[in-house]
Amino acid sequence: MKRILVTGALGQIGSELVAKLREIYGNDAVVATDLRSSAHEITRTGPFELLDVTNDKAMYEIAKRYQVDTIIHLAALLSATAEEKPLLAWNLNMGGLMNALEVARELKCQFFTPSSIGAFGPSTPKDNTPQDTIQRPNTMYGVNKVSGELLCDYYFHKYGLDTRGLRFPGLISYVTPPGGGTTDYAVEIYYAAVTQGKYTSYIAKGTNMDMMYMPDALTAIIDLMEADSSRLTHRNSFNVTAMSVDPEAIAAAIRKEIPGFTLDYDVDPKRQAIADSWPHSIDASAAKAEWGFRARYDLDAMTKDMLGHLGGRQL
Ligand code: NAD
Repeated sequence: MKRILVTGALGQIGSELVAKLREIYGNDAVVATDLRSSAHEITRTGPFELLDVTNDKAMYEIAKRYQVDTIIHLAALLSATAEEKPLLAWNLNMGGLMNALEVARELKCQFFTPSSIGAFGPSTPKDNTPQDTIQRPNTMYGVNKVSGELLCDYYFHKYGLDTRGLRFPGLISYVTPPGGGTTDYAVEIYYAAVTQGKYTSYIAKGTNMDMMYMPDALTAIIDLMEADSSRLTHRNSFNVTAMSVDPEAIAAAIRKEIPGFTLDYDVDPKRQAIADSWPHSIDASAAKAEWGFRARYDLDAMTKDMLGHLGGRQL
């Protein structure tokens, strides 16, 4: 039987991933952990433990106590916040990852951690960004993510640890708000559409970035973890994406459901600079070829579903 430890479980990805993993593998099989507690239902539907991932001994003790065989390491500081607090980002993003890898090595666990389109930089080809390409990011988050990809590859080659990972684009969900990323606008815009019928974007018109709907992201994690190891060449950094969009494109899709929706701009230079350093659209062909990645939601399907859940159709 699988036993999975999830760090940063109360975040945007973790809160939905834990629920889905518990549906598949059973409530007791998934140990959710986070730095903070909350009234979220994942703290009640199965095991929940307080865990600061920079505390290696505490992580080892919890993993050992629950006899986990899989670690899904999500705790991190995201791109915009990491740029504000680079030292904290280094300590949490690299220290936490190193601790999680060491616990996985000692307990012989399968291991997953997400990378990001932030692992690319200004000198990376921006269109149809290849799986294997130049990675010279100029943000602390990007530096952490490239280092993390390399570190996970190192643990595979050096210790034979079954490490796997995805380079996520901006993830869009109606369940848990995002935690300080550059693509957060693509979630906020839907909430604003439903509550106010208008949105002011901090990302400029014409700034294309990759995005994916959360259900596709969760399926991608589970499919990659279940994939036959011998088929994987790019273990720790598969490009995955569902769409490349700018604020206008999302607004146009929203107007098909809420015709009066209006969009204007008040660009935040800090987050815009991060967005400008990222690709416009990435190539996910390695993920498709090596483990059958497929995104089910395009922009229109995602928009309908988001607004449906947020109550937009009633407006
Ligand atoms: P989030 O910010 O929503 O959640 C992070 C969680 O980590 C929070 O619940 C927070 O309380 C917890 N945390 C913070 N410090 C901690 C510590 N010291 N110990 C334990 N927990 C701590 O993040 P997310 O969006 O769920 O992202 C999860 C992972 O996915 C991160 O590695 C992130 O870089 C990556 N990622 C996310 C996106 C996205 O759009 N959400 C895109 C690309 C990559």
